Amino acid sequence: MRRISVFGATGSIGQNTLDLILRAPDEFDVVALTGAQNIKQLAQDAKALKADIAVTSDPARLTDLRDALAGSGIEAAAGDNALIEAAARPADWIMSAIVGAAGLAPGLEALKHGTTLALANKESLVTAGPLLLGEAARHGATVLPVDSEHSAVFQALIGEEMDTVERVIITASGGAFRDHPLDALEAVTVAEASSHPNWDMGQRITIDSASMFNKAMELIETKEFFGVSPDKIEAIIHPESLIHAMVGFNDGAIMAHVGPHDMRHAIGFALNWPKRRSLPVERLDLAKIGQLNFRAPDFARYPALKIAQTVMEEGGLTGAVFNAAKEQALDDFIAGRCGFTDMARKVDACVDAMLSREGLQNATITLDSVQEADAAARALTADITGTAKG
Ligand code: NDP
Ligand code: MG
Repeated sequence: MRRISVFGATGSIGQNTLDLILRAPDEFDVVALTGAQNIKQLAQDAKALKADIAVTSDPARLTDLRDALAGSGIEAAAGDNALIEAAARPADWIMSAIVGAAGLAPGLEALKHGTTLALANKESLVTAGPLLLGEAARHGATVLPVDSEHSAVFQALIGEEMDTVERVIITASGGAFRDHPLDALEAVTVAEASSHPNWDMGQRITIDSASMFNKAMELIETKEFFGVSPDKIEAIIHPESLIHAMVGFNDGAIMAHVGPHDMRHAIGFALNWPKRRSLPVERLDLAKIGQLNFRAPDFARYPALKIAQTVMEEGGLTGAVFNAAKEQALDDFIAGRCGFTDMARKVDACVDAMLSREGLQNATITLDSVQEADAAARALTADITGTAKG
């Protein structure tokens, strides 16, 4: 039996992870499940999977969680420290699927105990890649990528030497506005930015797809996770989103990972690694799909990609600043405090200002320094006014 925990169990990635676990309950001994506000789901899953402990990040919800677990014998706990304690419990494999900067500390704790970390949480790598991977190396722990593009790159690299890699190509759907007139982007509404051409996701990640801030995060993740230099990392628009990523080698070969739009592929790959096992995902009918299309991304339409290049080149705490600035800019757009195209302007101005003031590139990356850079970047971004109408 493998001992496993799922952090962010009540979210989209977490629920897909539990779906796979529930299909083979005899193979897994579930240690901890965590959530935040969705106590009903958390308690229901903890009971179905006979977890040892369920944790909510919100101390105000502890009583609700206790009530929901009453009589089950499952422990209940709450708060950020409880999350870290849960991450310290002996386990073989942990899914890191908390959203946002809150995902970093439990992941670091799991690595300190040598636990294999399946990493969906993008912010951990973007804000603190060297800290996270340094901790993994120190404790002989494995980190497996779960973001589909990085799972694809990881799979394309199996058995390959890194010095033969010429480029890594991350695909992007292009989001809601890939065909929108460029001069009309300024005036798009929150509702328009919240609808994705290919799939249904949460509002924030859908807007991040339209602006390509999501892809910008993924380019930075690529640099951090695989140690590839920024000049070898590219994004390409691929409207069908069936190729998740490609790796180009020094003999001209390109290995592409093709798969369905189903996160259970990347999650299942990490769950079963180093083996491949059957997964309950669609098998693609390539004849029916007919064709796959590609086009170059345009920096005028997607300035986030240009900012990502700067972040990758500067390194240090620039990723923490970038992540916080784009979160703040997104908050401002959703709240009607700035327009769609102002988001990139605000993030760009924040990254530029903090780079010139603070020497972020050489700063030591610790949990504290990441949190400080995050707070400073949010405050600065909130103060930068936009020019477009919200
Ligand atoms: P969701 O918003 O669906 O789920 C987030 C999870 O985190 C929930 O369990 C939520 O609890 C919990 N949570 C929220 N706030 C906190 C907090 N402050 N402390 C602790 N836990 C918290 O997100 P997703 O599952 O979509 O994404 C999770 C991570 O994976 C993100 O970093 C995302 O970028 C990344 N990712 C997601 C992909 C996807 O397809 N969804 C693809 C690739 C990467 P509750 O719901 O109970 O409030
Ligand atoms: Mg992705």
